[in-house]
Amino acid sequence: MNLKTAVVTGGSRGIGKAVVLALAEAGYQVAFSYVRDEAAAQAVRDDVEKMGRACFTAQCDVGDAHSITAFFAQVEQRFERIDLLVNNAGITRDGLLATLSVEAISEVIQTNLIGTLLCCRQVMPGMMRQRQGCIINLSSVAAQKPGKGQSSYAAAKGGVEALTRALAVELAPRNIRVNAVAPGIVSTDMTAALLDLHAQEVQSRLLIKRFALPADIAEAVLYLAERATYVTGEVLSVNGGLKMP
Ligand code: NAP
Repeated sequence: MNLKTAVVTGGSRGIGKAVVLALAEAGYQVAFSYVRDEAAAQAVRDDVEKMGRACFTAQCDVGDAHSITAFFAQVEQRFERIDLLVNNAGITRDGLLATLSVEAISEVIQTNLIGTLLCCRQVMPGMMRQRQGCIINLSSVAAQKPGKGQSSYAAAKGGVEALTRALAVELAPRNIRVNAVAPGIVSTDMTAALLDLHAQEVQSRLLIKRFALPADIAEAVLYLAERATYVTGEVLSVNGGLKMP
């Protein structure tokens, strides 16, 4: 049996971990990166291997172009081809723009936008040669309806959505689809502080009266990867009907 190979950035926790596990469950062999927590990454790798799927994990800071190149070189040594790339790694450094340091602003743009762009660039030659592939980028509701203090994050994710549409045009002739998923509020480390302080207020703005679980987002990724054969250049909102104030 020829298994498909997926690469997921930031697979050690949160949405990325759920995506890794869902893809393995669906039959993919998976390579994923982590940046800080090697033990957490190894635990995810063990879970994937228990499902009988090959798994590779290595450190990669998507804010650093050299780190990205080194990571994909290792992935290509381990797996013959890459069928799916999920650009999940992302960070927030929220705050009113006037109060944010230049470093914080750059880090958000570099990690969320430039990191995504450079990871796409790494997998494109192989996918173009094999005339088959799929790229899924993690955007955010903030790209279209940002909250206060989200200027750099919203700009980065807006860029991710524009990149998704642009690459869909560039890669369609080679049978490569490019889409994005835009989550609303998902229970992960990223939103823990927000939900500690404002859970009730945020919940009042949802049509579906619960916060998303990482698995809800993984389902959308799986849909775009496996079922959405005629969908490209789209952003799929997965936000429980969140209304921004
Ligand atoms: P999270 O719980 O904070 O996890 C972030 C993941 O990204 C971790 O695996 C982390 O690795 C990795 N990461 C962070 N900086 C990185 C870097 N410089 N290089 C490589 N990997 C890096 O976040 P999450 O909530 O799962 O979010 C995942 C994606 O969904 C992000 O793109 C985020 O913007 C987007 N999103 C999330 C929400 C939400 O409500 N949670 C809503 C909309 C969009 P380590 O574990 O090694 O630190």
